[in-house]
Amino acid sequence: MYRMVDLITKKRDGGSLTTDEIGWFIKTFTAGDVPDYQASALAMAIYFRGMSPREIADLTLAMAHSGDVLDLSGIAPVVVDKHSTGGVGDKTTLVVEPLVSACGVPVGKMSGRGLGYSGGTLDKMESISGFRVNLTTEEFKKQLRELGLVLAGQSADLAPADGKLYALRDVTGTVPSMPLIASSVMSKKIAAGAHAIVLDVKVGSGAFMPTVKDATELARMMVKIGKSVGRKTVALISDMNQPLGCAVGNALEVREAIDTLNNGGPADFREHCLHVASHLLVLGKQFKTLAAARAACEAALADGRALAKFRALVAAQGGDARQVDDPELLPKAKLIETVPAPKSGYVKEVNAREIGVASVMLGAGRMKKGDPIDPAVGFVIHHKVGDRVEKGAPLFTVHANSAERLAEARERALAAHQFSREKVRRLPLFYKTVV
Ligand code: URA
Repeated sequence: MYRMVDLITKKRDGGSLTTDEIGWFIKTFTAGDVPDYQASALAMAIYFRGMSPREIADLTLAMAHSGDVLDLSGIAPVVVDKHSTGGVGDKTTLVVEPLVSACGVPVGKMSGRGLGYSGGTLDKMESISGFRVNLTTEEFKKQLRELGLVLAGQSADLAPADGKLYALRDVTGTVPSMPLIASSVMSKKIAAGAHAIVLDVKVGSGAFMPTVKDATELARMMVKIGKSVGRKTVALISDMNQPLGCAVGNALEVREAIDTLNNGGPADFREHCLHVASHLLVLGKQFKTLAAARAACEAALADGRALAKFRALVAAQGGDARQVDDPELLPKAKLIETVPAPKSGYVKEVNAREIGVASVMLGAGRMKKGDPIDPAVGFVIHHKVGDRVEKGAPLFTVHANSAERLAEARERALAAHQFSREKVRRLPLFYKTVV
């Protein structure tokens, strides 16, 4: 038996929490016996003081074992999963998971909600009427066996401790902490049981890791945890200095993912998805080379198999599949305004963080725990860094449900765009792979 205040002060003063203390905290917190203010205070102490690799491994395993840890060996020889460390416009899961499943490798995925200014897969999928993310262990396994694709959130059965801590971190300024991100991501991956995992570790203005060096350290930490529990784990370091694709905001992103599954979508987003999916297919032993995997992915996008898988996923989890067939049926904002470029030039910056914050202000994310999400609001960004734009041409479109919020978000998104008279180099999609 410990006192929560002693754990908080120990970490606040730079001490190391023992394996027992971490285990006790997670068990007690999961049972509902640690109030939100004490759990948030501990998260803030971890944010400032960090954790040793041993503490991070202990926290990860304690959170993974706060619910069931799935054994998928009876379901398929290899089940794969991917996870992003969080970004703006990052709807990769919505395309990659059905794509990989359509190419023959089962995907069992546990996702999260929005976190700070980054969007969350669960919130995006809930833009589809009726889509259910709260699955029991049995439902998860059954759907994986029958469909080869399942997408769940943290629940009473699966990683409940992460679900609770995640909701607090979202609104207490404790997201960008290496130990908290590593343990949050890897606890979900361990609990959901996938044998092979591709981590999409974001770096840049809209990521929680500002430099490639930090992102690499986080990637190494997570790969090591994955391998230590017998999971094949690879991390890709990818760019998050500008939003991925064009759409930012829940229903808008679902729509863009459907366009991409229809063999369209923005070029950068399609390319990003093909790269991540190819790594998953190679790690899942379906193809020997990334080139062969990529060719299979391109074929599954072109002939509609990937879209059909997504449609089946939506239907299997209670969603309205008609919204996949006709995205016009997805929630729509009342106010839609296209903002023109204030000057001519080359786009030098589209600050992803600022676009993410503006989209939370529109209602796409939460200001406090439990806030409802407005699925319809957000942005469509019309240009990428390096594009030439002329004064007066459409720069971005704001989707809002309040005139006041629209005005605030418009100003923030305008300030996020910087221009140069000189040509500007395009940003890379990926920086490196950590194995
Ligand atoms: N994704 C997660 O699941 N957790 C984090 O902390 C960040 C991204």
